[in-house]
Amino acid sequence: MLKILYIIGTLFQHLWFVRLLSISYLHAPKNKSCMIADTLDINIQQVSKSRLEEVDFQNLPFGRVFSDHMFVMNYEGGKWDHARIEGFKSLSMSPATSVLHYGQAIFEGLKAHKSKDGEVLLFRPQDNARRLNQSAIRMCMPEIPESLFMEALTKLIDVDRGWVPDSAGSALYIRPFMIAVDEYVGIRPSDNYTFIIFTCPVNAYYTEPLHVKIEEKYSRASSGGTGYAKASGNYAASLYPAKLAQEEGYRQLIWTDSSEHKYIEESGTMNICFVMGNRLITPKSSDTILAGITKDSVTTIARDWGMEVEDRRVSVDEVVQALKDGQISEAFGAGTAATIAQIESITFRENTYNLPGKENRTFSNKLYDYLDNLKRGALDDAHNWIIKV
Ligand SMILES: *Cc1c(COP(=O)(O)O)cnc(C)c1O
Repeated sequence: MLKILYIIGTLFQHLWFVRLLSISYLHAPKNKSCMIADTLDINIQQVSKSRLEEVDFQNLPFGRVFSDHMFVMNYEGGKWDHARIEGFKSLSMSPATSVLHYGQAIFEGLKAHKSKDGEVLLFRPQDNARRLNQSAIRMCMPEIPESLFMEALTKLIDVDRGWVPDSAGSALYIRPFMIAVDEYVGIRPSDNYTFIIFTCPVNAYYTEPLHVKIEEKYSRASSGGTGYAKASGNYAASLYPAKLAQEEGYRQLIWTDSSEHKYIEESGTMNICFVMGNRLITPKSSDTILAGITKDSVTTIARDWGMEVEDRRVSVDEVVQALKDGQISEAFGAGTAATIAQIESITFRENTYNLPGKENRTFSNKLYDYLDNLKRGALDDAHNWIIKV
């Protein structure tokens, strides 16, 4: 009898030991910037009273109206933890918080749309998850497992599905971001981070056709720098040159490479595309040109439609020559906020070149409608870009 008890006892001891081992293995950080477990229990605390009724959906200033909830999680002790969905509210932090001084901050931007049948659809969200991690690596921040990002995103959108507008062109704009939160004055990567996702219902992002200027003094990004990352500091650095251009009457800049100012990079915070006959020409993504998901969709669809896509280095000289010769039929910026932002004129040094009117832009007009319908689930999703929430 005693012997049996002894055997059972050692067995349990053994099991207990095995359990302990597996727990410590699961929770051990692989290295400082990566965790092993890639799902977390998300604690959902719904607000007691929604603000939905107070919102005038016909009149939504872009990026100023925020949905009821946000997703928050903390990176502490080498792992992501305390995942929660709670009411949208202000953050409180120490004045010594690292991000406020040294700018370790990255973000993403994507949209959810509502289909005719009331389904909520996300457009290529895994691409945002991947790009967020590329930005994180460059800024010495911890990565977020893609499955965890997707779970956080879909749960949040599900909780606030009533905030996804359904009129044409409208969407729920989604802003995931990560900041360094050590309370420490000194330059080193933070040990602690906060990741948040909040959302804003937005109407069609209407931009007047843009007058843009090719910039030859300032640059947005330089080789070896952070241009390919959605790092907050990149945007801070672009404000002053953009302001100078606005004072001269331009809406935006066309950035060129920082070493020679001979190659076209981006337009404002969008990728830039030119149409010449049956060709779509766009500067190839690099460490100074951000790999936009909209641009990737545009080039993929252009290929599907039988256009020749030239995704390569594009020189200022060739664009200016083509403008002089009247060969450029369409030019536009591509990005999530506007999808397509038509460029009306391009100025290089003393000369301004006007492009054909918006009504004649066959490709980009058709593309805009196509993408809008696709995102709303009204077209066949041949590339598996849509994720239903
Ligand atoms: C976000 C961004 C883009 C566009 O990327 P999308 O994925 O299409 O929204 C282009 N350029 C810069 C600099 C950006 O920050």
